[in-house]
Amino acid sequence: MSTSVTIAGAGLGGLVLARVLHVHGVPSTVYEAEPSPTARAQGGMLDIHDDTGLPAIAAAGLTGQFRGLVLEGREATRALDRNGTVLFDEPDDGTGGRPEVQRAALRRLLLDSLPPDTVRWGHRVATARPLGGGRHELAFTDGSTIRTSVLVGADGAWSRIRPLLTDAVPAYVGTSFVETFLFDGDRRHPAAATAVGGGSLFAVDLAANDRRIDAHRESGGDLHAYVTLTEPLDWFDAVDFTDPDAATARIAREFDGWAPELTALITDSDTAPVHRPHYALPVEHRWERTPGVTLLGDAAHLAPPDGEGANLAMQDAAELALALVAHPGDVEAALGAYEATLFPRSIEHSAAAARTPTTQEIIDFFTGS
Ligand SMILES: Cc1cc2nc3c(=O)[nH]c(=O)nc-3n(C[C@H](O)[C@H](O)[C@H](O)COP(=O)(O)OP(=O)(O)OC[C@H]3O[C@@H](n4cnc5c(N)ncnc54)[C@H](O)[C@@H]3O)c2cc1C
Repeated sequence: MSTSVTIAGAGLGGLVLARVLHVHGVPSTVYEAEPSPTARAQGGMLDIHDDTGLPAIAAAGLTGQFRGLVLEGREATRALDRNGTVLFDEPDDGTGGRPEVQRAALRRLLLDSLPPDTVRWGHRVATARPLGGGRHELAFTDGSTIRTSVLVGADGAWSRIRPLLTDAVPAYVGTSFVETFLFDGDRRHPAAATAVGGGSLFAVDLAANDRRIDAHRESGGDLHAYVTLTEPLDWFDAVDFTDPDAATARIAREFDGWAPELTALITDSDTAPVHRPHYALPVEHRWERTPGVTLLGDAAHLAPPDGEGANLAMQDAAELALALVAHPGDVEAALGAYEATLFPRSIEHSAAAARTPTTQEIIDFFTGS
């Protein structure tokens, strides 16, 4: 297949698709809304899973370079209860199979692996419309347009390509993260750094399941926390996130009585707390085969964050690329084969992600019980 593939979105999914296609000699162009590769901080660490993300990186021919990005020791995992009592503490013995990398570093590796000009920055898709015969036209917010005969929506939760395929719209799932950062943890925030340990921390209330503090030790010893709260959106609307001190105090109040080394992950943040609400598509989200267009990653199966989303986006992307390569000259056969495995996999994952685990299940998951 030599027809160029048009990809909307240069997240990990869109970039893995472009890279695996390139490895097989198939050209592509990625249209990305952001103005440059460094326009936005790319979020924290990702653990890349040996059954999803790692095979995708192998298909991209980047395993060796990926290994150079892995942050040693970060697979260490510990759980504390709200009093700071250690529930379990597993060191990173190198056998975990879930290496941790900074998302920005992985994205940079993928970008650097593509021919120059593959990614067209500053191209935000405004609308997409069918032209018939499997062709589509994309209109960008700057007024320019392009036409394509193979279109992939890799443009995330609020995809502008998705409406070509389904009417589904993400809905709030009832939980949110509040994100904080404590820089240079060992030196500036030693008690919190000790609580987090060498890798990931899960701090839970054994009596209630609606409050949790997760944190990771990132590169340079920065501590990155996701505080989970089960509250409706209007609860968060009543928190004034434009006033960092007031917002911090309001969120910290929800953790009254927790150990100070845990609440420090909220109160000692070096950045303003950021509200990150969780949205999801319907668990059964799928679409009828529609000529010339498909979706991958969050555009296809947005689910509440459970540590799988980026891995699945990369897996989708690698499988889609290989399907296009395996069906030269027959885009419909390729997209049909891709979707035949995409739908059951993503429905199974979305169903699991939609279920709020009990505290005991979280502990069992991390201890392998
Ligand atoms: C707080 C948080 C923590 C998470 N932690 C993890 C984790 O630890 N592990 C994990 O596996 N997953 C995690 N996830 C999930 C993961 O981030 C997503 O599932 C993953 O990024 C999806 O990849 P994607 O390529 O499909 O979409 P995205 O990463 O969202 O990329 C979409 C790209 O499309 C671009 N775009 C959007 N709209 C347009 C447009 N109209 N035109 C052109 N371009 C557009 C965006 O700018 C972006 O570059 C987390 C999610 C959140 C919210």
